[in-house]
Amino acid sequence: MSTADLVAWLRGVLDENEAAARELVAEAARCREALKEPRLLGTTQVGWGNWTAVERTALQALADIEAKRAIVDAVERYVSWEPHPGVPCDNEGNPHEPCDLCIAANRSMPPRIEPHVLLLLAMAYADRPGYRTEWRLTE
Ligand SMILES: [Zn+2]
Repeated sequence: MSTADLVAWLRGVLDENEAAARELVAEAARCREALKEPRLLGTTQVGWGNWTAVERTALQALADIEAKRAIVDAVERYVSWEPHPGVPCDNEGNPHEPCDLCIAANRSMPPRIEPHVLLLLAMAYADRPGYRTEWRLTE
């Protein structure tokens, strides 16, 4: 699995989702303002009362997107982490144990997070263009 490709694709999907959620937040604000129009007061506008819920849901979507971005960033940081850039680790086949150079560099590894998490995130967007069958989870 190419983590870099999946990271790039997921970020593109999250960008699209964020743009859509921001548009919805703006639309909710526009509709709430329109409701203040004096000629509409006291009249029944089907569905307009739902704009507060729409805005709340869109704002929650933005928070969810931010959390997903943080997960994607954390995986990328974990898989691309180099304790002493440019010099391979001499840790006898255990990439998660520091070698002498690691200890000398005194850089702590980012928290462990498996790239598999990205496959779980991507499942929600399997119908989007660019989703690869190789990212599909098989059980
Ligand atoms: Zn090392």
